[in-house]
Amino acid sequence: MKDNKKLFRQMLVFGTICLILLLAFNTMVIPFMKDSQVKETNYSFFLSQIDEDNVQKVQIEDTLIKFETKKDDGTTQIYSTIRLDDPDLVSRLYSHENIDFTGNIATVSPFAEFVVSWILPLVFMIVIWNVLMKGITKKMGGNSMSFGKSSAKIYVKAQTGKTFNDVAGQDEAKEALVEIVDFLHNPEKYAEIGANLPKGALLVGPPGTGKTLLAQAVAGEADVPFFSISGSEFVEMFVGMGAAKVRDLFKQANEKAPCIVFIDEIDTIGKKRDGQISGNDEREQTLNQLLTEMDGFDGKKGVVILGATNRPESLDPALLRPGRFDRRIPAELPDLSGRESILKVHAKKIKTENNIDYNAVARATAGASGAELANIINESALRAVRDGRNAVSQADIEESVEVVIAGYERKNAVISQKEKEIIAYHEIGHALVASMQKASAPVHKITIIPRTSGALGYTMQIDEGEKFLMSKEEAFAKIATLTGGRSAEELIFNTCTSGASNDIEQATKLARAMITHYGMSERFDMVALETVNNKYLGGDSSLACSEETATQIDEEVNNIIKSAHEKARRILSENSEKLHELARFLLEKETITGEEFMNILNKKSLSSV
Ligand code: ADP
Ligand code: MG
Ligand code: ZN
Repeated sequence: MKDNKKLFRQMLVFGTICLILLLAFNTMVIPFMKDSQVKETNYSFFLSQIDEDNVQKVQIEDTLIKFETKKDDGTTQIYSTIRLDDPDLVSRLYSHENIDFTGNIATVSPFAEFVVSWILPLVFMIVIWNVLMKGITKKMGGNSMSFGKSSAKIYVKAQTGKTFNDVAGQDEAKEALVEIVDFLHNPEKYAEIGANLPKGALLVGPPGTGKTLLAQAVAGEADVPFFSISGSEFVEMFVGMGAAKVRDLFKQANEKAPCIVFIDEIDTIGKKRDGQISGNDEREQTLNQLLTEMDGFDGKKGVVILGATNRPESLDPALLRPGRFDRRIPAELPDLSGRESILKVHAKKIKTENNIDYNAVARATAGASGAELANIINESALRAVRDGRNAVSQADIEESVEVVIAGYERKNAVISQKEKEIIAYHEIGHALVASMQKASAPVHKITIIPRTSGALGYTMQIDEGEKFLMSKEEAFAKIATLTGGRSAEELIFNTCTSGASNDIEQATKLARAMITHYGMSERFDMVALETVNNKYLGGDSSLACSEETATQIDEEVNNIIKSAHEKARRILSENSEKLHELARFLLEKETITGEEFMNILNKKSLSSV
């Protein structure tokens, strides 16, 4: 019904446009055509032309006089002039008997006038109508006769070309999906024991962890038809079209069973129906249709629905209840071994030297997603090509890690010697504070070459192995390390610079988290003071406490940072000689490794004993 209403409204709009066009043509184009042939002149010229017997036609209007002249060479010209109050005019015209002053001067031929005022607008209208209809039917998918046909693509094995071997690290997710593939191959095995297989499985996890890739791998492995559609494809211009698409998709799937239906980014249609007044009718209908369809089909027939999303918390609970997407398959950020194997999978596609230490790279990329790791490998290949080599080296990969973290090197950035000095002391400040605390990860690399991300230098720390927990001591050591840069500036130059802004941001965030999430403060004990909103998308949090408590939290954060800063300053002033020596060394070399750093640190302390 609503479709028809919409269509009716469209027709109305179209009709109005046509009318306006017609009017425009008749009031503007035709007079313009006429005027373009008429020359304006003055009255005395008119009189002189009459006397010279050049005038052959005259048309007298209310305020104008139009006249047509014919020269001896046969050319005619139409003029117009102002009509003056001239009582002699008629007798003057009459005296030149060859002048026809009863007639009409037609400046445009009647045929041309007819074409312009009627045929041309009609042609225009037909063209516009066609364009409009094409746009509508395109949005509806297919030609105008098949409104609401789903545009799900059917994948078969050869087309995705992906198998479980292409997915590294996601072992739990793979296991869960293997079971589904097995069900599609031998449904009897499950029917015998009376088990119902899940109708739907939802892949959840942060962006870039391989959810779409996993689904494609299932398509490659399953050997059954695989329908793939993205949630946004259901969102339509017309209310009801999305629902029709869902219906059509499931009809197709039922015909092709056993098969898999994959809905990517399902949160676009599966959002909670939260009764907003300006609620999205279309989306709600689509979701309702999806819920109905998922209930409607026979679980034993072998249609399995996969969904993928990185906002599971925003999904409608009805979608998640048993019998619909009753199984959740997490695709989390890869751990150390996961990262290593993802790096290896992607490194297979490029030429590398033989002695690449993937473990070292994996350790340096804690928190990176599969997509980022794939990007790192690709960057390293690009770097090798840029340098004219035909295989990727360890250095290439390590440099790309930094490119992905901090951007490209700005080799020709001009930084004054004074500023360079400050940056060097700042970075050594971080590194020294880090290395002087037991609970801190070892220093891997220090550099003062600026990067395109805006970093003027940085200190890279890498843990020995994978870390799953962070103790209070480690958190505090980290904050102290972050304040180490500013502390060095204060100590050596007796000033502070804006270079510490990023350190300050990170330190504050961590100190806040210690209090509000990790329960690491005495005052609040184990009370959760903030709730995380989007776990997988940045994890912004909102306060869940009174204003008074918020004030107290700020105080606590302040205390933690102050004492960490204090500690960093103490460490640096106790080791000021090493600070000088290391900073000088860094200034000279611009980039030093953790090993070089430790050598100088230890040599010094040995000689001073
Ligand atoms: P999303 O989870 O956001 O859907 P994708 O599946 O689109 O992420 O992953 C993007 C790319 O990242 C993939 O094409 C693949 O190259 C790479 N990738 C992500 N995770 C993995 C993984 N576990 N193993 C191998 N490659 C991966
Ligand atoms: Mg995806
Ligand atoms: Zn810093």
